[in-house]
This record gives sequence, structure tokens and C-alpha cells, in this order.
Amino acid sequence: MQHRHLLPNEIDLLLDGEVGFGMAPLKAHAESCADCAARVDDARRVTAALDDLPRFAPAPSFANRVMAQVQVVEPWHVALTSAAMRLVPKTTPMRVVMAASASLLAVGISSAAVWLAFRADVAMYLAGLADERLRQGLTAAAATMARTIFGAGATSVLSAQGTAAVVAGMSVLVLGAGAAMLGLRALASASRRARE
Ligand SMILES: [Zn+2]
Repeated sequence: MQHRHLLPNEIDLLLDGEVGFGMAPLKAHAESCADCAARVDDARRVTAALDDLPRFAPAPSFANRVMAQVQVVEPWHVALTSAAMRLVPKTTPMRVVMAASASLLAVGISSAAVWLAFRADVAMYLAGLADERLRQGLTAAAATMARTIFGAGATSVLSAQGTAAVVAGMSVLVLGAGAAMLGLRALASASRRARE
């Protein structure tokens, strides 16, 4: 028989029905010491009561209800991936169709790029054409605008001064539009402040 009372973990070992080296002295002490026998009995009653407790589990929708109120900060790459995943069709036939169209598009673009690379002269010609068209269009638009705003006299100035005048005129117009925009925004925020 050992000289000291049982420690809590030794009582646990007795309750668990552990067998092995060192258990025999614990058992002998519990049988011969009224104090320790009472503590083992108490512990056994508590364990039995815990075993008899009804088991609770949250409702299946509990996690969803909690997470619906949690603000989850989504990293940009996760947001990008899920946005891309939403674009992928759900059904296999649609996926095949989409993959086929995507490959066709890729092949088309690649072929066009290769063709243009080998026909750089054609590409230069097309680019020059587009540039020329754009410039003509801009000049015509600027002339129309100038005629509308400043009258017919401005058109002759415009054609006399050429592209520099067009650029200057356009810059003034853009600056004016920007200033107007800023003014409108200031007005809007001022009225919003006034309402608050
Ligand atoms: Zn004891």
C-alpha cells in the first residue's frame, strides 16, 4: 500500500479501467483508504452523469447563418479566380463549346499576329491608313465644332493654322470640359453636404 492519497490523474486511471504496471498499488490504496474510495466514487458518479447528458448539436443551418453576418475580406486573387470560375459554364457541353470557341479565337489571333509579322508592310500600310482616317476625322470634327462655337470665320483660321491649331483648340475644349466637370462635382458635393 502506498503512503500518500491518490492524485486526480490516478483517480482518472482507475475510472478508465487502466491495466498495467503501477495500477495494482493504486487499486490497493483505493480499497484500503476510505477518503480515496469516496473520491473515486464521486468521480465515477460525475462521469456517469456526464455520459447521461443529452447531446446537443447546432442546427445544420447554424454555420451558414453565422457566416452570413461575417464580413469576409476576400483577397484580390481569390476574387479574380471566383469571378473567372463564374464565367465557366456549369454543364459539360457548354464547357466544350466555350473551350472550342476560346481555342478558335486564340488560334485566330495568333494566326493574325503571325501573318502580320510576316507582312509588316501590309501592317504598316493599314496602320497608316487608320492614322490618316483618324486625323482627317479629328480635323473635320474640330472644324465643325469650331464653326458651331466660333462661327464660320474660325474655320478659315483652322485650315490656315493646320494641325497645331486643331491640337490647341482641342486642348482648350478638353480643359473647358474638365473644368465644367470639376465644377459640377463641387456643386454636387456641396448640395450633398447641405442635405446632410
Ligand atoms: Zn487515500
